Amino acid sequence: MKYSLKSLILTGIGTILFLTGCGENSVKNQPVVSQKPTSTQEKIDPETKEKTLDLMVSIAPQKYFVEKIGGDRIRVNVMVDPTVEPEIYEPKPQQLSSLEDTEGYITIGLPFENKWLDKFKSINPQMAIIDSTQGIERLEMVDHDHGHEEESHAEETLDPHIWLSPALVKKQAQNIYEELIKLDPSNQKFYQENLAQFLTEIDQLDQEITNNLKDINNRKFIVFHPAWTYFAKDYNLEQIPVEVGGQEPSAAELAQLITTAKNENIKVIFVQPEFKIKSAQTIAQEIKGEVIMINPNDPDWAENLLKVSEVFKTKL
Ligand SMILES: [Zn+2]
Repeated sequence: MKYSLKSLILTGIGTILFLTGCGENSVKNQPVVSQKPTSTQEKIDPETKEKTLDLMVSIAPQKYFVEKIGGDRIRVNVMVDPTVEPEIYEPKPQQLSSLEDTEGYITIGLPFENKWLDKFKSINPQMAIIDSTQGIERLEMVDHDHGHEEESHAEETLDPHIWLSPALVKKQAQNIYEELIKLDPSNQKFYQENLAQFLTEIDQLDQEITNNLKDINNRKFIVFHPAWTYFAKDYNLEQIPVEVGGQEPSAAELAQLITTAKNENIKVIFVQPEFKIKSAQTIAQEIKGEVIMINPNDPDWAENLLKVSEVFKTKL
């Protein structure tokens, strides 16, 4: 069998390709470490040549706050998916390993943090733990312990939803700024200007919400999960929760809620994405009212609070 020179050459090339393609050690399968820049290199912003800080927060609204102050000098990851109830969240293994590269974890006082913080610290002892609730007086949860019977103690019964009060977010922003400049003093001026801008935006938002809510007659609202305590306090509203002690209401509690709604002429039950809405629907049917979704964990914090105030303005 005579092989043409051409076919010989082609077979040769084919063989080389085959070898490199599938072989363990083939270039394609080479772990790209040697080409990929190391994590520190990755943190250097090619444009500003600035080192980017890697930060982790617990919930999406915090990412909004931190990015407002940190701008492009930081990168923020969020531990809890906005569609999951943050209080009882269990971090995923890859999230835990991503903490190895994180310079700061910004807490907001959620029960799951108390449970996991030691673990987070053990994964990366260099990581700064930034408590954004410093100096914020938290209220007791309305008869609520988020299903932490065996662990319930003072800390656990404090209402964690401080991110829904613009006034309290100003304090959180100040706390975040003060810790950010410790982690990255070279950008203090940049963070300070951003903080000032953000505080002004919060004042404007607060004014718009106040205007939206100033003339509503009925200032009481029924909500499944009592996340709006601080919002209600800021704007002189009264929150009536359906969920009691982190649990679905009993038949007697449901009947009581229906009576309250009728007496107060309440026509709307507010719910949030990750909670079962059956009991809310039962009440709505009884009062010939409606169930409306409002999300306390929406990533677009300012827009969301404004939208909620507009819903309250038209529905309460
Ligand atoms: Zn909650």
